[in-house]
Amino acid sequence: MLSERANRIALSPTLRISARATQMRAQGIDVVDFSVGEPDFPTPDAVKRAAKAAIDANFTKYTANDGIPELKKAICEKLERDNGLKYSPDEVIVSAGAKNSLFNVAMALYDEGDDILIPAPYWVSYPDQCKLAKANPVAVPTHEENGFKLAPRDLAAAITPNTKALILNYPCNPTGAAYTREELEAIAEVCVREQIWVVADEIYEKLLYDGQRFTSIASLGEKIKKLSVVINGFSKAFSMTGWRLGYAAGPREVIAACSKIQSHNTSNATSFVQKAAVTALRECGMEVERMRQEFERRRNAIVYRLRSIPHVSCDQPRGAFYVMPNVARYLDREFSGAPIRNTYGLAYYLLKEAHVAVVPGEAFGTDQHVRISFATSMDRIEEGCRRIAGALARLEEPRRLRPRALNNVVTKVAAYAETRAVAGLETRNALLEEASSHLASDAYFEWNSAIAGVVVQLRTNSPHLADFYQENFYPAPLEGDLEPHAVVYAVKDIPGRDAAGLISLETATGFAFNTAFYGQVRSLALQLAAEAATRSSGALLAHCAALDVDGAGVLVWGGPGSGRTGLLAAALGEDGVRLVSSDAVLARLGAAEPVADLVERKLYLKAKWAGKLPEIGKLLERSKLENMVVSRDGCTVDHPGDECPLDRGAAACIEASKNGRVMLDPYWLGGARRHVRRTAPRLCVLLAKDPVLPLAQRLDAREAARLLAGGQLPGSTAKAFPFANPHLAGLDGSRLDQLRAQHERLFGASKVVMLNTAIGGAAAAVKRLRELIA
Ligand code: PMP
Repeated sequence: MLSERANRIALSPTLRISARATQMRAQGIDVVDFSVGEPDFPTPDAVKRAAKAAIDANFTKYTANDGIPELKKAICEKLERDNGLKYSPDEVIVSAGAKNSLFNVAMALYDEGDDILIPAPYWVSYPDQCKLAKANPVAVPTHEENGFKLAPRDLAAAITPNTKALILNYPCNPTGAAYTREELEAIAEVCVREQIWVVADEIYEKLLYDGQRFTSIASLGEKIKKLSVVINGFSKAFSMTGWRLGYAAGPREVIAACSKIQSHNTSNATSFVQKAAVTALRECGMEVERMRQEFERRRNAIVYRLRSIPHVSCDQPRGAFYVMPNVARYLDREFSGAPIRNTYGLAYYLLKEAHVAVVPGEAFGTDQHVRISFATSMDRIEEGCRRIAGALARLEEPRRLRPRALNNVVTKVAAYAETRAVAGLETRNALLEEASSHLASDAYFEWNSAIAGVVVQLRTNSPHLADFYQENFYPAPLEGDLEPHAVVYAVKDIPGRDAAGLISLETATGFAFNTAFYGQVRSLALQLAAEAATRSSGALLAHCAALDVDGAGVLVWGGPGSGRTGLLAAALGEDGVRLVSSDAVLARLGAAEPVADLVERKLYLKAKWAGKLPEIGKLLERSKLENMVVSRDGCTVDHPGDECPLDRGAAACIEASKNGRVMLDPYWLGGARRHVRRTAPRLCVLLAKDPVLPLAQRLDAREAARLLAGGQLPGSTAKAFPFANPHLAGLDGSRLDQLRAQHERLFGASKVVMLNTAIGGAAAAVKRLRELIA
C-alpha cells in the first residue's frame, strides 16, 4: 500500500537506537546513552529571551518563505565575518534545520541517474536524501589511518560522467574528520576541474580542536564558490536542535529553486525562532567557545579510555563530538552462542549486556566501527567506557567454525511476471532472435538439467539464474550428442522491455525477459518438462505439497491463506513424517498404483515457508538465498521493541523478507528421516480454511477434480486456489480437460478429502490426516 519510495528507506538508525535507549530508561534501566546527536548544553539565555520577546510581540505569523530579512542579513554578516564569504540575501535561504536545507538542495540539484559522491563513513541522511531525489548515492571510502579524510586521488577516481555532486561534511559526523586549507584546496581543484557541485555541510564548524581554524571550501576562490552550496545551522553551535533552524547559501538560481521547493513543503522556518537566531549569531560567541572547550576536554578523555581497551583502535577526532573506535577484532566473537556477525550485532550486545547505546558503523557505511557521541558528561563517559571494556572482554571466541559469507542475491524484479503462451513458429522465431541477440558470447551460461528424465536447457546471461538452475535441478547425463527436449532463454538487460515470461508449448521453448528472479525460470522449466512427460507417459506435474506419513503419500493442495504452510510445518514436527516436496511433484499415473516424485534436487522455498522449518537459522547460512533481507538497514518491519533477529546474529530477517526465497537441500532437514524423494499417494487433501465447513469431508475423484479446476470449494468463503501452478500459461480448453482427467485418475487411485484448517488449527488437521490414512 505504501509507495515504493517509502518501502525503500528505513527509519534513521540513530533514531532507532535512541528510541530503544529511552525505552530502557523508562523501564528503570540505567543506560549510558552514547547515541546522542546533540550538545548536552542549554540554549544560551539571550536566545531564549529573544524568542520570548518575539512571541510577546506577536511575531508568531507566517514570515517570508525564505527567511526574515533581518536574519538573512545576520547570516550574510556571519558568513563574511567568520568564513570570508560574500553572499547577498537572495543567495541565502533559511529552513527548518540544516537537514531541511540539505533536503531542499537534494531536490533542487539531483536528478534521476545522477551519482552523488559521499565520503564514507557518512552522516546517515545523505544517502537516503539522494534516494528520495532518485539519484544514486556513491560512497567514496576514507580511511582511519588518514584521519578519515577524503583523499583528492580517491575523489578524482570516483568521478564519472554521471557524477553531479560531492557532499563534503567537515568537521564530520560521524568521524570527526577535518581538513586544513591546503587539503581543501586540493579537493576544490578536482571539483573545479571536473565541474561537480560541492554541498558543504558545515554544521559542526564551531567544534574544532587542537587550535585548528575552520576554512569553508567555498571561500577558496570564485570558481569553487560558484559550484558550492554551503549548509549550516544553529543546532550544534548554539545547542538549538529542537528549535529547528538552518540555512543554505549558494548561487542565486540554486537558492531560488530551494525556495520554490520549500514553499510547497515547510514554508518558512518558525517565526520567533528566526528572531532568536539573530541574537545567537550576534551575541553568543562566548557560549559557543565555552562549549567547544568542554568538548575538547571530553574528547581527550574518551579517546584515551577507548584506546586503552585491548584490540580497539581509535582515531582522534579533530572536530564535532563523535569518535569511531574500530571494533573489528570483536566482530568474530560470540555471546551465549550467538555470533556477533556485524556492528549492528555488537551495538545490540552492548545495549543489552552493558546498557550502553552506541550507533553501529554499518549505518554510516563502515563495517568496522561504532559511533560514540561524547555529548554527555565526563562521569557518563567514564562509566560508559568502563562498561564497554567489560562487555567486550566477556565476548567469547567462537566455538564453531564461522559460517561462510551469506550467499544472497538481490534481483531488481523480485516477483513473477505474467507468463503468456505464444503460438506459431514465426512468433517463436522472432523471440528466439531477440533473445539470442542479447546473449553476448562473453557473458553466456548454458546448462542441461534432467527434470523427470526430460532434458531442459537453460541459456542465460544472468550468472545468478545459471547458478540457481544448477542448484535446483539434477544435471543431465554427460553425453556429447545430447539434444535438449526443451530450452529456456533467460535474458536480462534488454533495453525497453518489461519483465515477462513467454512460452511456446508446441516448440518447447520458454523465454524469461528482463528478470533475474529465479522463480520465473523454474516455472518455465517445470512446465516444459511436464509437457514432455505428459506427452510421453501421461505423467502429471501436480501443483501440491507432498508428505510421506509412515510410508503413505499425502498430497496437499491449498491456496494463499488456506493454512497449508502451518499444516506442513506442524506435520514435519512429528515422527514418521517426511517431506517430499513443498509445491510440486510429478505424479506417474501409468501403473496401477501411482507414485509421486520430487523432480528437483533442492527446494526453492518462500522465506515465509522456510521460516517455519526447525533450525532454519543454521540452514540459511548454508543455503543460497534470493532477495532475503540480510542487513539491519534493509529491515522495514516494526519488530516489537525494535528487536530484529538480525541483531542477535540471525543470517536473515525472515519476516522482512517478503520476496525472499531459499534454495534448500531437503536432506538438511534431518537426512532420510525427514526427506524422501518418492512416495505412493494414499491421500489427497484439498485445504479449506473456513469457519462454516466441517473439519473433514470425503470427496469422490470426479468432484474433487472439478472443484480443483474451479478453484472454489463448496460453501467456502475462503480465497479460491488455482487448479494447477498459477504461473503455467497456455491452459486452453483441451489442456484444461487433460489436466482435469489426469487429476481424476490420481484421485481415483487414492482417498480424497477436503480438510478444514479453520477448526482446531494445524495440530487438529495433522491428527485428522493420520486418522484418514490409518
Ligand atoms: N548535518 C550533519 C552532519 C548532522 O550531524 C546534522 C544533525 N545530526 C545535521 C546536518 C542536521 O542538523 P539540523 O538539526 O540543523 O537539521
